[in-house]
Amino acid sequence: MIRITNLVKRFGGAAVLDGIDMDIARGEIIVVIGPSGTGKSTLLRCLNFLERPDAGHLVLNDLDMDVATASARSILAVRRRTAFVFQNYALFANKTALENIAEGLLVVHRWPRHKAHARARDILERIGLADKGDAYPASLSGGQQQRVGIGRAMAARADVILFDEPTSSLDPEWVEEVLELMKQLAAERQTMLVVTHEMNFARDVADRVIFMESGRIVEQGPPSQLFSAPQDPRTRAFLRKML
Ligand code: ATP
Ligand code: MG
Repeated sequence: MIRITNLVKRFGGAAVLDGIDMDIARGEIIVVIGPSGTGKSTLLRCLNFLERPDAGHLVLNDLDMDVATASARSILAVRRRTAFVFQNYALFANKTALENIAEGLLVVHRWPRHKAHARARDILERIGLADKGDAYPASLSGGQQQRVGIGRAMAARADVILFDEPTSSLDPEWVEEVLELMKQLAAERQTMLVVTHEMNFARDVADRVIFMESGRIVEQGPPSQLFSAPQDPRTRAFLRKML
């Protein structure tokens, strides 16, 4: 179980995250939506300490910390249990698909090379790229690159995978195969926190949709409820544009 309490992040003076509270159950699929510049990426980045939050408390299963003062050791522990999927894939251009998937296991988890590569081959199979282990990112389609990005996140069996607009950089023809892989993970009850504009994915897959605006959670609920009967006028205005 993950519990975030009063998470605050400022850039300059402005609070980009203005006191976020969130509980995530094991196996829960959460989609985060909201206007541009509202703090969605910052929320995910703070959860993985890609950004250092200014205040807040994080419980991640047996880890429990004040995020503003977390030690290097605590931060590493969080990074070992969370995985990130980036909009622009963020693959190492000079490493093969297999090496990209194995990299975190080697560097963050300190697995021996043979074990990391065996796990990476398993993952390649699961993401439908068993024959692409030796391929470099530049020779893969956008959809294949993002599947490698997701494979990398799957490799370490993270407690939660954080997806930041995983299909937003893709040509339309590759979106579906990436969403299919995410659906497969959701069906396995991989805990996921997904920022996306793919409203059909949210409707079909999410247990809960969270609508954020101006660094705060405005409204949340199961997609059936949030999409058909939003309570807050800001949610209604946003959904009118999106649906
Ligand atoms: P989008 O839908 O466009 O991706 P978002 O909801 O993900 O938007 P964030 O990227 O989290 O929004 O940004 C929230 C606010 O914080 C924006 O005003 C942005 O300009 C600001 N911001 C984000 N990162 C930084 C940074 N490293 N330095 C300064 N300001 C930042
Ligand atoms: Mg963003």
